[in-house]
Amino acid sequence: MTTDAISPPPRSALCVAVLGTGLMGAPMARNIAATGCQVSVWNRSAGKALALAAPNITVAADPAEAVQNARVIVTMLKDARAIAEVMSALPDAEAMPEKPVCWLQMSTVGPADMSGLKTLVDRKGLTLIDAPVLGTRQPAEAGQLLVLAAGPDSTKEAVQPVLDAVGKATRWLDTAPGMATRLKLALNSWVFALTHGAAESLALARGLGLDPELVADTLRGGPLDTPFFQMKAQAMASGDFTPAFTIDNAVKDSGLILDAAREAGVRADLAEAGLNRYRRVQAQGRGDADMAASILA
Ligand code: NAP
Repeated sequence: MTTDAISPPPRSALCVAVLGTGLMGAPMARNIAATGCQVSVWNRSAGKALALAAPNITVAADPAEAVQNARVIVTMLKDARAIAEVMSALPDAEAMPEKPVCWLQMSTVGPADMSGLKTLVDRKGLTLIDAPVLGTRQPAEAGQLLVLAAGPDSTKEAVQPVLDAVGKATRWLDTAPGMATRLKLALNSWVFALTHGAAESLALARGLGLDPELVADTLRGGPLDTPFFQMKAQAMASGDFTPAFTIDNAVKDSGLILDAAREAGVRADLAEAGLNRYRRVQAQGRGDADMAASILA
């Protein structure tokens, strides 16, 4: 590991490529651009990237064009497979004008995936920072995500302006990529437990002849309440499943939790039951609904 710090250029000259402008990547790209950085975006379905075009947001035809002048590359793609496909198509860092180039990997992947991505990135000559985020679409739009980060100390100064643009705080954990991803899975395990707990509680209330909103009303302001619970309970009671975090991604992340738990010798009964709930909703053709649709399981 090098100890020479990678110093940041002035913000207006910092060129950031955002690969993947879905529910999360789009607002993140907007917030990075809002701080004055030059942002280049690419998305597999071009329409989502084209919708972001602005004076300091350019839309690239392919990932290689997007990273052409980038000092920092952000990936906010669905899963490790998509990330590996997209990153493999990039030129080596040697062929890029800006060197060194930091890669902020912000999608949710598994610890085993991180090892594969690290090998890929080493071959490309890029510097990998494992930087998954906590928070869904609304905090992403408000630039209020919590970033979990693990990567070489020498890169922190260079990437911090980008992390500050998308998040309210960055929790630096370790110099070894993979540790942030591990914490992200542990936190998602709690997020899913809360979601399914709320779903079953409201479904039971309804089944017992009560208005499900009574559950949220009764808990409001007490020690068992959380803003997340209130938000999801409202979606469940009203049946408004506009996605902040899709069922498809919840299936993916529940699988990652189970794989990591198995590898670690930890029993994850709730995650397994939760995955089955999400799969039942997916089988109803509701993969693009919000995870609050667990109540439909
Ligand atoms: P999303 O809206 O489903 O976006 C997924 C992105 O990945 C889209 O840009 C999609 O392109 C792209 N993609 C999928 N497969 C691809 C492939 N084979 N090749 C190239 N691109 C591909 O998901 P999201 O909610 O933004 O989440 C993105 C990542 O952040 C996921 O890893 C998710 O688990 C994680 N995350 C999400 C949240 C949340 O609350 N939403 C919170 C924290 C972390 P198309 O548009 O062409 O499909």
